[in-house]
Amino acid sequence: MDPSTRKSHGHDQALASDTFDKFCNASTLKDILGLYRQLCSVCKLVPTNFHEFFPKIRGKIPSWRAEELWSRFEKKAAEKCYARGRYGGNTKVLIIGGGPCGLRAAIDAQLLGAKVVVIEKREKFSRNNVLHLWPFVITDLRALGAKEDGHEFNLGFCSDKFFAVLYGKFCAGSIDHISIRQIQCILLKVALLLGVEFYEGVGFQGLVEPSSSGVMMFDVILGADGRRTILSSEGFKRKALRAKLAIAITANFINKHTEAEAKVEEISGVSYIFRQQFFQDMDESMGIALENIVYYKDETHYFVMTPKKQSLLEKRVLYQDFPEPELLLAPENVDQEALQRFTMEAIVFATDNRLPELEFALNHYGQPDVAVFDFTTMYASENACRAVQRKGHKLLIGLVGDALLEPFWPTGSGCARGFLGSYDAIWMTRQWGKGLNSVLEVLAERESIYRLLGQTTPENLSKDHNQFNIDPRTRYPKINLGAVNARQITYLYDSDVPI
Ligand code: FAD
Repeated sequence: MDPSTRKSHGHDQALASDTFDKFCNASTLKDILGLYRQLCSVCKLVPTNFHEFFPKIRGKIPSWRAEELWSRFEKKAAEKCYARGRYGGNTKVLIIGGGPCGLRAAIDAQLLGAKVVVIEKREKFSRNNVLHLWPFVITDLRALGAKEDGHEFNLGFCSDKFFAVLYGKFCAGSIDHISIRQIQCILLKVALLLGVEFYEGVGFQGLVEPSSSGVMMFDVILGADGRRTILSSEGFKRKALRAKLAIAITANFINKHTEAEAKVEEISGVSYIFRQQFFQDMDESMGIALENIVYYKDETHYFVMTPKKQSLLEKRVLYQDFPEPELLLAPENVDQEALQRFTMEAIVFATDNRLPELEFALNHYGQPDVAVFDFTTMYASENACRAVQRKGHKLLIGLVGDALLEPFWPTGSGCARGFLGSYDAIWMTRQWGKGLNSVLEVLAERESIYRLLGQTTPENLSKDHNQFNIDPRTRYPKINLGAVNARQITYLYDSDVPI
């Protein structure tokens, strides 16, 4: 290398390392994508499958911070279940939705060696709400390079030695929650560094049958677009699970990280049955009747509570009583200012007025982040997958996350069951790519695994979380991969030639 080439090479490496550091620290969707695109341009990289992309990006960013991540990614990619890309290499996967579960599925599909594209209809990650995480999800995030910094996870350096010394609290497992925005940021950074293509502001509208007109064709499509999944009209019938009327209020306040705020303890779930006196006192002194309240101190001060309908009516939060939850909680029946007052009063009581200068954080629309909603009905898809064959092209379709099984959120199961379903969907993608089983056998195995999902709890999963991966046998101790047989699910395979 002549001196001028060496100089420019050194300059490019320094620029790449600097951009990489900024990328790791970025905290908005716009910054993450902007810096990633800059990084790809400096390193002359184009996102593609893991086995082509990863060695290149690894070679172009030599910083020690990057090395920490590369070695974690390499360790993960070397797990037997990914078979060094043998079963994913020819598969193009489209993931609809860049929420936590879509991104988690994208990461595993990429590690499997597939070419992965994620489309996300929003242009911002703006959900402040905080998720309680099951222990295996925390182990999973750490294995992907997330570190806990004070009260937040980041994508940064993550040596175990430093973890133990600097982040003892996290290691002890006392931090078990994260905002939706933050988990999306972490998973997006991981996905991008592995080579996933991500398009913001792009909404999926429907399937188009294969034609010769040069449209991009996919082999696998995963719907990770939340509870109102667009794929419900593409052969995924949903069943509604109804409970008695249940209303929730969520509220987020700016965390100014003052000493006074730090002293206020979290409320990890106080429910009426356990603390009747507390709730009766609140009702008597404030006229606020709740069944439950949770408070997490995270990026924001996050509160979620379940008020009784009568109390909302008496406090004029709801103008009129309706038997149908959709009408009762329709925006035109909610007085936003009264809702804010109601929430504040409940919080003042629950925290003993020790969070005195509360200021609402803003939501996606720039409004105070307080919302009231109904969770009387939860939806679950009847099937987890199906397949379509047209003009010689086979397409495997699956659902993950809330699109597959909506959680009963007070159990904090959303992300955990969502992640389990994402791993399962990528296991199905692997079986599909492996090509040893017929289409119906692949679908039957996926449906067998889906039968377990709704019953999972932190207690009945396998205990060794470090071993969890896309292979369902690492997670579900009592699994029967043949619980559903191919003959039972022929209706899930729609083909233009006889099966
Ligand atoms: P989502 O987070 O809904 O993401 C779907 C994504 O798809 C969105 O980004 C959306 O913009 C995008 N999208 C939608 N349609 C399209 C389209 N057509 N094209 C492209 N993109 C599209 N879970 C927990 O684990 N712990 C908790 O403590 C917890 N508490 C909760 C409290 C409340 C009040 C609520 C309501 C939920 C709670 N949950 C909790 C549930 C948790 O939020 C969800 O399970 C989780 O967000 C599901 O992730 P997801 O990726 O499946 O879907």
